Amino acid sequence: MNRRDHLKLMLSAAAAATLAPFAVGPAGQALGQTKPPEKPADKPAAAAGPYTLPPLGYGYDALEPHVDAETMKLHHDKHHATYVANANAAAAKHPELGQKPIETILADLASVPEDVRTAVRNNLGGHWNHSLFWDLMTPGGAKEPTGKLKAAIAEAFGDAGALKEKVNAAAATRFGSGWAWLAVDKAGKLAVVSTPNQDTPLADGHRGAVLGVDVWEHAYYLKYQNRRADYLKAWWNVVNWDKAAANYEKLLAKA
Ligand code: MN
Repeated sequence: MNRRDHLKLMLSAAAAATLAPFAVGPAGQALGQTKPPEKPADKPAAAAGPYTLPPLGYGYDALEPHVDAETMKLHHDKHHATYVANANAAAAKHPELGQKPIETILADLASVPEDVRTAVRNNLGGHWNHSLFWDLMTPGGAKEPTGKLKAAIAEAFGDAGALKEKVNAAAATRFGSGWAWLAVDKAGKLAVVSTPNQDTPLADGHRGAVLGVDVWEHAYYLKYQNRRADYLKAWWNVVNWDKAAANYEKLLAKA
């Protein structure tokens, strides 16, 4: 190799090295090279931070009479917004948190810095739970499970009615505040579980949730007061089964 060819080779190697970091793909993401979420231009400065309150995909009154507008407005605009603000406050102390996917953090809370671990567990957990919850409700969605989810529910529980009874029982017996879930476990099997407070099914090793129902009093007290069972019965009328089916297929593919 003469000197000119050698120089060419050096230059092309340097160019490749320069370009490599711009190659975006799953491998790069696995190495933590994902960019932090950018703040949407139309969000107020108060929303600054890696986490943002997702919009409801429907009006506050869209789920009436099953879930009332006043509850939806307070629940989304105040309760969920507070979880987002508190999660951003935790991420401000440890900016590396904002670089990681939310589910990675919630599946491994032990690796979260101790001074913000409880705040992350409660508030990033609350953000994740509620983001899922809003999408799992819809006016006029499919009334029963669809697709692969329908077959999986039939196999695991018998039918949708039996599943609802199992979720309702988990929700009714959750003492105090928490959630009931139809989750997918490590092996890819459906499981009905409940979690206290804002704990997520990710924290105990599940792949994620197909659907979940919030049984904090703030989710139902204005309309149903102490009648959690009545709220649960009504809630099934607004479940977005198409979204649940999509969640299930995504979780089946998740290793
Ligand atoms: Mn809630």
